[in-house]
Amino acid sequence: MGEPSDQDALLSVLCSLTATLPLVGNGQYILGFFSFCFSMYFLRKLWKPAKVIAPDDFRVIILGAGVSGICMGKKLNDLGLRYTIIEKAPALGGTWWENIYPGAACDVPSHLYSYSFFQNPNWSRAYSHQKEILRYLQDTASRFGVYPHIKFGQRIKQNTWNKETNKWTVETNNGDKYVGNVLISGCGGLHVPKFPNFPGMDEFKGDAFHTAQWKPDYDPTDKVVAIIGTGASAVQAVPNLSEMGVKDLTVFQEHLVGHHQDLTLSIQSG
Ligand SMILES: Cc1cc2nc3c(=O)[nH]c(=O)nc-3n(C[C@H](O)[C@H](O)[C@H](O)COP(=O)(O)OP(=O)(O)OC[C@H]3O[C@@H](n4cnc5c(N)ncnc54)[C@H](O)[C@@H]3O)c2cc1C
Repeated sequence: MGEPSDQDALLSVLCSLTATLPLVGNGQYILGFFSFCFSMYFLRKLWKPAKVIAPDDFRVIILGAGVSGICMGKKLNDLGLRYTIIEKAPALGGTWWENIYPGAACDVPSHLYSYSFFQNPNWSRAYSHQKEILRYLQDTASRFGVYPHIKFGQRIKQNTWNKETNKWTVETNNGDKYVGNVLISGCGGLHVPKFPNFPGMDEFKGDAFHTAQWKPDYDPTDKVVAIIGTGASAVQAVPNLSEMGVKDLTVFQEHLVGHHQDLTLSIQSG
């Protein structure tokens, strides 16, 4: 995305450095200064972090291929260290692969909710939708060579530290074992959906699911819909659902922030 190749950067450095000397020699100090800055800018693009020298069997294991796991993989590639990312889902992206409810988007501006090493000047909106963020994460993993290190469809079920060898053994649900010197968790703080628990919940006969487990083919047209909670996901889902032809949409919130009062909001779809 707009980054010059190494060859382009090298050529730009050489051209601008070549231009700097005659400019300064002819007393054109200001132009010379800009030409020098230009060459330094492209020189920075050519800078590559130093590789770490590690024993042949040194290996890092990363739990999860979400935003954190992908970032860690890129950084370990920079350092030249061997690593494996273990991901229970069949795809990368974590939060941004899982959350597909109507209106799912970031609530921090996309230009800030991006990797510092891979800025994206092409975000289509200030608060990009889930699909665009997921595509950005896929692009990041492709561009920085993270994909080949990911083992998809394996849930880590046990990690054991061996004091004799100073190594971790990581066991996954299908019986595979990975041994590593370092184990890094990128399992995500919001990873496990939180379900409410109230009497009679089991007897509800309609569709009931968490926004984080939205059914992609669910059609809310003409349905009476209730949303529980008014957090960031509900704030995004409610206005979108209200425009999807629902018959009635009610939002339940246990208490106001800082208060302990019952609150029920109701939106009648027009
Ligand atoms: C709808 C929504 C919007 C959000 N918007 C913002 C925002 O605007 N700004 C912001 O800063 N944050 C936002 N967040 C928080 C968001 O979760 C983090 O920003 C970020 O995506 C977390 O990335 P992560 O890699 O740490 O975790 P996750 O994205 O949760 O990824 C964890 C990964 O670990 C895998 N995993 C977990 N356990 C195991 C296991 N045992 N074995 C193998 N794999 C496992 C999961 O499958 C998953 O792929 C939002 C969250 C949600 C849900």
